[in-house]
Amino acid sequence: MAASLPVFYSCLKCPAYCCTYPQIPVEKRDIRRLAKRFGISEEKARKKFTKKGEERGTRVLRHREDAIFDSACMFLDPDSRGCTIYEHRPTPCREYPGTVRCGYYDFLASERTRQEDDDLVITAWVADL
Ligand code: SF4
Ligand code: SF4
Repeated sequence: MAASLPVFYSCLKCPAYCCTYPQIPVEKRDIRRLAKRFGISEEKARKKFTKKGEERGTRVLRHREDAIFDSACMFLDPDSRGCTIYEHRPTPCREYPGTVRCGYYDFLASERTRQEDDDLVITAWVADL
């Protein structure tokens, strides 16, 4: 097994900002995984958990209201800020952020240090995608 690189962010100390992105794309294989997880048909999973994406022909995860951010992925636990389908989460969630640093976490950590508040949450931040 290849050794994984160290990362400079901690999702456990973050309010799951990346789970609030409005367009989290899902492919057929992701929908198949969700269908298996919930024991329902792929068609049902597609309708229940995804909606049309902004880009033609794409599907994205559905959202629901969130107490910290305006809305977040429907699978985000609003209290623990963890993914409720972690083992079955879609591929983009597995691959994010794709580098050893997370821009949001860098900003959050630096503001927490600067403001001397370990629980500080930054809600207004624009990802440099
Ligand atoms: S925004 Fe960054 S630190 Fe926060 S949960 Fe997502 S990947 Fe982890
Ligand atoms: S499926 Fe899980 S990891 Fe992916 S956006 Fe939703 S809550 Fe976050």
